[in-house]
Amino acid sequence: MEKTPSKSSQARRFCESKDSVSATEAPLASAPSMGRTQPSPTHSALPPNSPSIEGGGKGGGSALRAVLFDMDGVLYNSMPYHAKAWHRAMTEFGFDLPEDEVYLHEGRTGASTVNLVSMRQHGVEETEERIQEIYSVKSAYFNEFPPAEPMPGAFELLQKIKAQGLKILIVTGSGQHSLLDRLNHHFPDIFCRELMVTAFDVKYGKPHPEPYLMGMQKGGLTPEECVVVENAPLGVRAAKAAGIYTIAVNTGPLPDKVLTDEGADRLYPSMQALCDGWEEFVASL
Ligand code: MG
Repeated sequence: MEKTPSKSSQARRFCESKDSVSATEAPLASAPSMGRTQPSPTHSALPPNSPSIEGGGKGGGSALRAVLFDMDGVLYNSMPYHAKAWHRAMTEFGFDLPEDEVYLHEGRTGASTVNLVSMRQHGVEETEERIQEIYSVKSAYFNEFPPAEPMPGAFELLQKIKAQGLKILIVTGSGQHSLLDRLNHHFPDIFCRELMVTAFDVKYGKPHPEPYLMGMQKGGLTPEECVVVENAPLGVRAAKAAGIYTIAVNTGPLPDKVLTDEGADRLYPSMQALCDGWEEFVASL
């Protein structure tokens, strides 16, 4: 395992920053609706993709330098609240969006989710105004729930990874109030603002590869040096489109196949299972 020589001083310097993200629960995003068209990721700026990962390993030897974590459904058990909030809000506006389906769309912008259902049901997209209205109702319902609990096994895994000298990044579509403060509260001494990609950093968001490409840029990393941990099908798609080896953790109600069909290289049934199997996984690289 390649160690990052200056990791201690670098991490200390990175993590001294106390600034935090502040915005609404999750911004509607300025991105164009992602639901209408498939993203067309551009790989021209990327180094050649990893060699075959058949057999379970990255195939690139022991070049691992960083682990990029999604947040909702990976570090926090927040998806059940998002699913219920979306279902309630959409029902109020006359839309049919079952709770389980919300997990399929995790990672989309709010506008994209609304328009996907609106197109399906009425054959037209909603106006910006109405999307704002629906989304604010969804956010209000979400905020009625207690804060989501950290996912069991997540902190133990983060500590193992930190002890291995690897960089740890967050790549999330979320834009919650004081995201970093919250992360620092539940996962002390793990994260820093400089190694976070949030809704405020990107134009497109997942399933576009942009957030993961930006994560690698912030960390000075190549795809071959990274592993992503994702729970959502569209998150897996984004990470794979960025050329990164992707571990899926199936923490929701979707069948495993939904995640493997998006190209997940490994699949674990929970964060605890990934934590328990982490040493074996790293040894297989
Ligand atoms: Mg997620």
